[in-house]
Amino acid sequence: MIFIDGSFGEGGGQILRTALGLSLVTGKPFNIKNIRSGRKKPGLLRQHLTAVNAAGEIGKAVVKGNSIGSGELYFEPHSVSPGEYNCQVGTAGSATLVLQTVLPALLSCKSASKLVLEGGTHNPYAPPFDFLNYCFLPCLSKMGVQIKCSLVKYGFYPAGGGEFEIDINPARPLKPFIIREREGLKRTSVLGIVSDIPFHIAEDEVKIVCSEMGWDENTGKAISVHSSGPGNIVLAILEYGNITEVITGFGQRGLPLKKVAENVVKQVKKYMESDAPVGEYLADQLLVPMALTGQGSFCTNSVSKHTLTNSEIIKKFLNVRIQYEKKGENIFEINIQGGRYEVGEE
Ligand code: ATP
Repeated sequence: MIFIDGSFGEGGGQILRTALGLSLVTGKPFNIKNIRSGRKKPGLLRQHLTAVNAAGEIGKAVVKGNSIGSGELYFEPHSVSPGEYNCQVGTAGSATLVLQTVLPALLSCKSASKLVLEGGTHNPYAPPFDFLNYCFLPCLSKMGVQIKCSLVKYGFYPAGGGEFEIDINPARPLKPFIIREREGLKRTSVLGIVSDIPFHIAEDEVKIVCSEMGWDENTGKAISVHSSGPGNIVLAILEYGNITEVITGFGQRGLPLKKVAENVVKQVKKYMESDAPVGEYLADQLLVPMALTGQGSFCTNSVSKHTLTNSEIIKKFLNVRIQYEKKGENIFEINIQGGRYEVGEE
C-alpha cells in the first residue's frame, strides 16, 4: 500500500492523476489524503472524479472516497482491461486531463483501446487538444505507440460540451525516448479560434502574434467554430525537425485581446530563446511515459514545480532514478533510469 500526501509540492490534481495512472500500471493500491489541498477549491472536482471513475472502470478497482469534494481516496486496481470506453466529465472540466490519467496503463497493455472523452477540450491550466495532438502524442509515437486522435467538438470553459476520440495501439516494450537537442525550425503557424464571439477577435490576435514575432501574416489563420458556449484561444505551433511545440493563449471575459496575444508572444520568445526542445508543460507530462520505458533523457527550458512534484510521485510507484542537471542558461537535462513496467494482466 502506497500512502500519498496530496498537499505535497504543487498540491494539485496531477498528484492524483499520476498516482491513479501508475497504480493501474503496477497494480499497487494507494491511499491519498489532502487531495488538491494546494488549490482554492480543494478535493475532487468533476474532472478529477471522472478520472478516478474512468481509472476504476479500466482497472476493475475497489474505490473508496470517490465523491465530489472528497479529500481522501483509496484505490485498489485488479486487472487492466483495454477496450472501448466513454468518459464524460459532465462539466467544462478538462477531458484531456482525464486522458492523462488512464493513458499510461493503455500504452503498455497487450491490446488496443479506443476512448471517447467529453468535457472541456481547450481549458486554461490544462493541455489543450492541439497540444496533445501536435506535441505530446507524437512523442509517444516515438516510444513506439501508434496513436491517433480527432476532435469532434470544441469545449471551452465554462460551457464545456466538447468531445474528442483517441485510438491507442500500445507498444511492448515501449522504446526509450531521448531528445536533448532541438533540430532546425521548419515552420511556424498561428491559429486564432473563436466560438460565439466576434470573429475579428481571432483575426486581431493572429495579426498581433505574427507581427510581433516578425512572421508572415499568411502563416496565420482565424476560424470560427461551433461549440456549446463562447470561447477564444490563440495557438502558436512551432514545428522543429524533431519536436513540435504548441503554445496557447486563452481569451477571458474582461481580458483585452492584445494581452491574450502578447502572452502567447512572451511564451514563444521564452521557448525560442532556449535551445532546449522540451517546453515547461511537455516536461512534466513526459515523465510518466518515459519512466515506463525504463530509460530516457530530455532537455527542457524550465523545471516547474509540477515537474518536480510529479517526479516524486513517480518514485513512489516505480523503482526509478530521475536526475536533474543544469546545462546552461535556461537548459536543464532530465535523465530517467530504471522503472520499466508493462501492464501485467488484462
Ligand atoms: P488542479 O491543480 O486545480 O487540480 P489540474 O487538475 O488542472 O488542476 P494540475 O496539477 O495543475 O492539475 O496539472 C495541470 C496539467 O496541465 C499539467 O500536466 C500541465 O503541464 C498541463 N498544462 C497546463 N497548461 C498547459 C498548456 N497551456 N499547455 C499544455 N499543457 C498544459
